[in-house]
Amino acid sequence: RVAIFWHRRDLRWDDNTGLYAALEGDLPVVPVFIFDKNILDDLEDRDDARVTFIHRTLTSMHDRLAEHKAGIHCFHATPEEAWKEILSIYDVGAVYTNRDYEPYARERDSGIEKMLEAQNIPFNTYKDHVIKEPEEILKDNGEPYVVFTPYSRKWKEHLAEKDLESVASALYFNNFHTVRHAIPSLSSMGFTESDLPFPDDDVTDKILRNYGEKRDFPAENGTSRLGIHLRFGTVSIRKIAQRAKETSEVFLNELIWREFYQMILWHFPRVVNENFHKKYDAIQWRNNPDDFERWCTGTTGYPIVDAGMRELNTTGYMHNRVRMIVASFLTKHLLIDWRWGEAYFARKLLDYELASNNGGWQWAAGTGTDAQPYFRIFNPYTQTEKFDKQERYIQHWIPELETDNYPDPIIDHKQARERALDVYKEAVG
Ligand code: FAD
Repeated sequence: RVAIFWHRRDLRWDDNTGLYAALEGDLPVVPVFIFDKNILDDLEDRDDARVTFIHRTLTSMHDRLAEHKAGIHCFHATPEEAWKEILSIYDVGAVYTNRDYEPYARERDSGIEKMLEAQNIPFNTYKDHVIKEPEEILKDNGEPYVVFTPYSRKWKEHLAEKDLESVASALYFNNFHTVRHAIPSLSSMGFTESDLPFPDDDVTDKILRNYGEKRDFPAENGTSRLGIHLRFGTVSIRKIAQRAKETSEVFLNELIWREFYQMILWHFPRVVNENFHKKYDAIQWRNNPDDFERWCTGTTGYPIVDAGMRELNTTGYMHNRVRMIVASFLTKHLLIDWRWGEAYFARKLLDYELASNNGGWQWAAGTGTDAQPYFRIFNPYTQTEKFDKQERYIQHWIPELETDNYPDPIIDHKQARERALDVYKEAVG
């Protein structure tokens, strides 16, 4: 008889709450991971870098357990198929996992929980991916917050030492079930290896200490680049939040934004497809495919926008300040539905996270919870003057900037601004 620990957004052995609970129990633990066909089959790129990232991470986790004659048992199937197989291979006494708050994950988990319940197998779930879960920080009247500042205030008031305590899963490595199965190869799942480099899973104290001053300047190496690691749980949020608390309040605030958007998605899952504020449903987007193509390829003739899109296309990353600028540009200057931009980011970003991406896009479009008011339209030139004054970022990404090969602006800024104001005003009065 064994216990199963199901890995999802927690691809690490250390400081993993659900895994720790499983290993502390009486049964030997089999860690499993499902390469979910429902998700993988929808990916557009066969060399999707996130799949390579997951595959490499699992391989190194598997290697680390070799000395214990254990390993991670991976399946390539839909969750339902995989669980049927797991239950046919093992005599399962209990299942452990960490909670995942996205709409798809909630539906998936409730389906699996029912399947297990039918066989009297307990499905034990734990908080691991966040410091404060969506139901933990609510207004005094029990309703969810929809504005960030009061949410973050309460989050900080309620932050307890124990929220940041690590658990020493490594103490119990002898409690893994001793069985090793090979991890399916990328090619057997229809993927090829991506050659994009991945950011480190650590951040220096220097970056954290200077974060408040440097984080807004895209030419600086001023942010943590931990997004992909927080997304897949290759680092523990408790360890990162503990360091943030010790070094940088501004950085801690960004981690709270991450939880704010997860909280919004949990309470308002409709935001996946809909404007948070319904009054914006009346916006008449232009949705011109040629304009969209120029935005995607970084050829709008607005250097800061094009630099951002080229950074994204080349590295799978874009600096936060520039994400705000390109998102504003797409929705306001080009009047293209934020959902188009959101989908493009979802395809390209290594740190893609549904809750934050949706939140960021709705913020920029002015349709979101705590959004930029629609009449505040970023001027790409002023933004450049403020945040890339020497144009180091722009010149890095657009070597042909000073030549005839660089296109003229796709639309005049003033004209675009007036057009956007008219369209938004028409929609919301
Ligand atoms: P740092 O500045 O070092 O911040 C540390 C961590 O805090 C980040 O890794 C992230 O987990 C979290 N964080 C920081 N800023 C935000 C924020 N505004 N909202 C939510 N979490 C935040 N972030 C994603 O993780 N995934 C996305 O898909 C995503 N899409 C975005 C789309 C748009 C249009 C915008 C404006 C922002 C988006 N963000 C997204 C938020 C932010 O841009 C990135 O988290 C950040 O740039 C990642 O770089 P970093 O790891 O160096 O962040």
